[in-house]
Formats: sequence, C-alpha cells, structure tokens
Amino acid sequence: MAAEREHEHVRVAVIGSGFGGLGAAVRLRRTGVTDFVVLERRDAVGGTWHDNTYPGCACDVPSHLYSFSFAPNPDWPRSFSGQEHIRIYLESVADNFGLRQHIRFNSEVELMSWDPEELHWTITTGQGHQYTADFVVNATGPLSDAKIPDVPGIEGFRGKIFHTAQWDHDFDLLGKRVAVIGTGASSIQVVPAIQPMVEKLTLFQRTPAWVMPRADRKISGVERWLHRKVPATRYLRRQLLWGVREMQVSAFAKHPNVLGLIETLASSHMKRAVKDRALRRKLTPGYRIGCKRILLSNNYYPALVKPNTELVASGLKEIRGNTLVAADGTEAEVDAVVFGTGFHVTDMPIAHRIKGADGMTLAEKWSGTMEALRGCSASGFPNFMTVIGPNTGLGNSSMILIIEAQLNYMVDYVKKLETLGGKSGKVALDARPEAVSAWNEHIQDRMSRSVWNTGCDSWYLDANGRNTTVWPGTTAEFRNVTKEVRLEEYEVKRRQPSRGAGGTVNSAVRTARTASTASTAFHAAEEG
Ligand SMILES: Cc1cc2nc3c(=O)[nH]c(=O)nc-3n(C[C@H](O)[C@H](O)[C@H](O)COP(=O)(O)OP(=O)(O)OC[C@H]3O[C@@H](n4cnc5c(N)ncnc54)[C@H](O)[C@@H]3O)c2cc1C
Repeated sequence: MAAEREHEHVRVAVIGSGFGGLGAAVRLRRTGVTDFVVLERRDAVGGTWHDNTYPGCACDVPSHLYSFSFAPNPDWPRSFSGQEHIRIYLESVADNFGLRQHIRFNSEVELMSWDPEELHWTITTGQGHQYTADFVVNATGPLSDAKIPDVPGIEGFRGKIFHTAQWDHDFDLLGKRVAVIGTGASSIQVVPAIQPMVEKLTLFQRTPAWVMPRADRKISGVERWLHRKVPATRYLRRQLLWGVREMQVSAFAKHPNVLGLIETLASSHMKRAVKDRALRRKLTPGYRIGCKRILLSNNYYPALVKPNTELVASGLKEIRGNTLVAADGTEAEVDAVVFGTGFHVTDMPIAHRIKGADGMTLAEKWSGTMEALRGCSASGFPNFMTVIGPNTGLGNSSMILIIEAQLNYMVDYVKKLETLGGKSGKVALDARPEAVSAWNEHIQDRMSRSVWNTGCDSWYLDANGRNTTVWPGTTAEFRNVTKEVRLEEYEVKRRQPSRGAGGTVNSAVRTARTASTASTAFHAAEEG
C-alpha cells in the first residue's frame, strides 16, 4: 500500500526562498495573511546567494540598492557586496520578519496542478508532502538552475567538472590545470579569483564581453555611522543609485547608438590592462555594448595577461579524454573544468511541473516562448503568479526593485481574491489570453528599438530568438504597471454552493460575466 501523503491546506504557497520568496513572505504577513508556506528545496534561505559560493562571487549592483526597501542595512561593508554578505543579509530578513515558521526546507515542488472544480492548486513535493493552496507565488528565480552544455565526450572526462553555481569546495585547485568555459558574469569573477592558485588557466571564450570598471570600495565607518544614526542619508544614497540607473534606460531601450560612447570607455579600460594588441582584438566584442549584459570588473583583464593564463577565443567543441578541444581546433589538457555557462533562464524548469486549467504544463503552453501579463500571470494558470516572470529582467539596475513591484501586484491579487470571494465563496482570477497577448505585443514592439535586439546572441533570447527576459523600461514604469491587478484583464471564476437533485449541496464553478465584458486591451497610457 502506498504511504499516505501528509496534506495541508494553505491560503498561499510561495515556492522559493530567495529575495523573491522572502519578500513575498514579508509582504503577505504585512497584509495580514499568515496562513501560508514557503516551500524551499534547499536547507537554507538565500536562493542565488545561497547556491553561488564560487570564489569571487559578488553583486554587480551596489548593496544599498540591491536590498529590500523595507529592510535597509546601514552596515553594508562594501559598495558592491560579496555573496556571503548578501546571504547573511537574507538570513537576517528571515529572522527579523518572523519568516522561519512559514518555511519548509528540503521541500522541492515536483508537481503542481490546478483543480478547476475546487479552484485551488494541489502541490506535491519530492519529500512526499501534499499541499493545497488557493494562490501560488512562483519565486523559483530566473538564475537558479545551472546549465551545463551537452558537450560531446563530456562523460569520458576523468577529471573534475562543476558549474560555478555548484562549486565543489572540497576540490583543491592549487597547482591544477583548470579550464573555465564561458565569459559571462560568473566566469569573469571566477577567473581572477582562481588564477593565482592554479598552475594553468585556460579560458574558453565563445563571445567576448564588454567589461567596465567596477567602482567598488570599502564603506567607511563614518558613512555606516551616518546611515545608522541618520536614516535619511541611507535613503538619499539609495535614491541616487537608483536615479542614475533610471536615467540610463532610455539609451538601452530607445537610443542604442548613444551607447557608442560607453564602448570607448570600456575599450580604454581594456587597453589599460591589456597591452598586447592581438589579445585585445580577441577580447573586443563585435556587437553594441549593452546587447549582452555589461560586466563590471577591475581584475578580469589583469588576470588574463598573467603568464599562467591562456585565452582560447573559440567555444568548446568537444572533450577527448582529458583534452578540451575548441571549435578552432585549439587543445588544452586539463585536470578540472569549471562551467560558467549560465542558467536555464528562458526555459524555466519549474514550468514543466506546473499543470494549468486544461491539464497542459506551463512549458507546453509556452512552447519555447514565455509570456505573462505584466510579467506575472499566464493565461490558463489561475491564482498563480511568477516573481521575476517573463520580460522583467534588468541589465543595469537592481532586480530587487522589480521584485518589490511584483509583490505590490501580489498583495493586490490576494486582496482582490478576498474581496471578490466574500466570506464563503471561492474565487479564481485567470489572465485573459487577449490581455496577455496585448501586453506581450506591446513589450516586443518596444523591444524592437532596443539595444537588446541589435543582433547579438545573448541569454536574453529564447530558442525562438525572442527576447522574453528583459524589461524594456524604467523600474518606475514597471512599478506603475504592476501597482494593481486590473480585473478587466482577468476572467473571474467562482465556486459557490448550489442545490443539486435531492437537495444535496454541490459546488459549481461559474465564470463571472461582469468582468468578462470589460475591455482587455492594454492601454499604452500606462507607460507613464
Ligand atoms: C552569480 C549571480 C550574480 C547575480 N548578480 C546580480 C546583480 O548584480 N544584480 C541583480 O539585480 N541581480 C543579480 N543576479 C540575479 C539574481 O538571481 C536576482 O537578483 C535575485 O537574487 C533572484 O531572486 P529570486 O528569489 O527570484 O530567485 P533565487 O534567488 O534564484 O531563488 C529561487 C529559490 O527557489 C528555489 N527553488 C527553485 N525551484 C524549486 C522547486 N521546484 N521547489 C522548491 N524550491 C525551488 C531555489 O532553491 C531558490 O532558493 C545574480 C544572479 C547570480 C546567479
């Protein structure tokens, strides 16, 4: 006989305990909702900042902006924090806001399906627990599932292989021949951190990155004291960091040519460290700066000119025994391979585990191209939203601003369900397909003028070549378009008791006509 699953009903289930999941938990509690759980597959909070422990791991956005507005930290030790400080910050958020009672660690969501009769989600975890929830917040993160390419011969490699997000701290790199694959944000942090300890470092670069200086420094005791004693100084600092980044958006989103000036700065940054012209040629991107994520580093180029470093300006093609072979035929025999090859961003793994109203998974529904109303709601997946959903990513500012904006949407969603449902009735809100399409057409139209669509091959693009990752506007604008749930963009479904034959009480789901008659067109005026 199959073991009986433990079952619990909650009003809200949050999946993930990174910035998104913890933020959702704080906002739910502040709204008066305490009947919720946070399901986390790991044994600790932090998400990205718990998993990524590779040497050199740090944030590219200053800490005073890369933190919750409702949980300021006057004591950030550096302008750009390292992983450990951010992880500790998130642990403190979990403690200070009383979130631990809600978190179920080692709870990986394996399957989640919408029950169209009961108007709730049934969630099954790998550990054998079952939950039902009226509303689900998917905060599983865009960069939480590491991607290792299927390189021919990889299974025959006899050395050590790991991804930057799954760093094996028991493996000693000292004196080893190490290959780093990829030149994205994580790799350019790893390379300078491990170069001094390895015997030989071979970096496989498919496409060079534009790299700008990193204005990192220690935050002085006086500044910290001021931020503690005079909160307005902390606030002012955050506002300045935010304002400068908001002003950059128009160049990225509307006037990519203006960014040529920034290319000049990035080129001279490289020139200062790399004297060898041939190496500079290999390191100079052939696309407009900003098309791929701009990276920040002061020690990446200096590490590349060290005698024990070799740059192979060609992607990894295959592995023969312990020899890595690049597409241009260059070979390198190594003891370890570090994959800095990114994450499953446009093919969100959780989407295969979420079954909507018609039994299709979210991945099937999307068939390679994610889309969601206001970056939150997918049609056919009622009472469900994704934090950092499609087209909510930023290239130049803090994702915490986007997360907080989406949490405003979440709070309004939960409140609307309560108001519409009244005391006893259960209600579901399902994004109308026309509203989702209108929203996405609008986003893609704007995207066509942006730097992200100037022809480079980036992780912002999905398998169909569509940019379903980036938000093509300011964070203020995003906050504005997510400040409330517009009922005209949703179909309202109600479950109400009704009298059946013989006087028995049945439940029946009805679709409310009031909302369905309203216009679903996206109003460009919202761009504000
Ligand atoms: C190395 C690195 C550097 C970054 N630097 C920056 C930066 O400089 N600026 C910036 O704005 N952003 C940066 N980011 C992006 C970063 O991911 C976001 O800023 C933010 O941390 C995302 O938070 P999140 O809660 O949405 O996702 P995550 O932090 O990824 O959390 C998702 C959580 O969901 C859990 N989870 C996933 N699937 C399941 C499941 N099936 N069941 C249960 N739990 C599950 C995961 O274990 C994880 O704890 C960086 C990311 C990485 C990887």
